[in-house]
Amino acid sequence: MRGRTEALVLRAAEYGEGHKIVTLLTREAGKIGLVARGAGKPRGRLTAACQPLVCGFYSFSRFGSSLGTLHHAEIERVFRRLREDLLLTAIAAYVMELTDRMLADGEPQPEFYDQLKAGLAAMDEGKDPLVLMHALELKLLGLGGYRPVLDACVECGRQEGPFLFAPRLGGLFCSACADRQAGMPSARSGGGFSARADWAAGGVVPLNASALRLLRLLGGVDLRRLGRVEVRPETERTLREVLRRYFEEQADLRANSWVLLENLLR
Ligand SMILES: [Zn+2]
Repeated sequence: MRGRTEALVLRAAEYGEGHKIVTLLTREAGKIGLVARGAGKPRGRLTAACQPLVCGFYSFSRFGSSLGTLHHAEIERVFRRLREDLLLTAIAAYVMELTDRMLADGEPQPEFYDQLKAGLAAMDEGKDPLVLMHALELKLLGLGGYRPVLDACVECGRQEGPFLFAPRLGGLFCSACADRQAGMPSARSGGGFSARADWAAGGVVPLNASALRLLRLLGGVDLRRLGRVEVRPETERTLREVLRRYFEEQADLRANSWVLLENLLR
């Protein structure tokens, strides 16, 4: 396959003497790995286009599922602010790591590509980076088949709150079910058997109405048309907690870049 495609750099690793292996999220060909000759040298022809937080047009050849070769690249945009601000850099690194780990090689996801690019651009232009991050997390969960249940209790189907978010069960858990479960003997205590005895393992997070509304909104929002979203800090913290636990429990994913980000957000 030879092609020219719009792409974002997900990551780049040193390769041999002065070369790089760059992992791109392309709009038309999905995630691909390419050898970029000379991209590890300061004045290499491909060097600037193989840095993180760049998008552009990349010409490459690739046969089968092997590593391809990057021939030519034109930078469309450098996300400068994301590079210069430590917190924004950490948020972008986390989003890129999640994208890299959630998407399989070579499966085109043009709609997600557009959302990721729009999300990074909006962060770069000063919109609330954590709200954008949570929207992209929810979109990645949807793509991976891990969309959380947010319309009703996963246990009884009840649609009225108050709700907890139970990451291990995959979504909302109503307070009536929580009370009932709390009163049941658990398997571990030896008093009987409850299939849901460990429903609270892995942590549950109480959700207030605004956190639930925001969770429902962000999964489906089009980041190319996102207006101003006012989010209270405690609501954002709730979403952060819900999504981190959910990625761990459902997608078995603990991002390496989360450690730095979590420290910066304390
Ligand atoms: Zn319930």
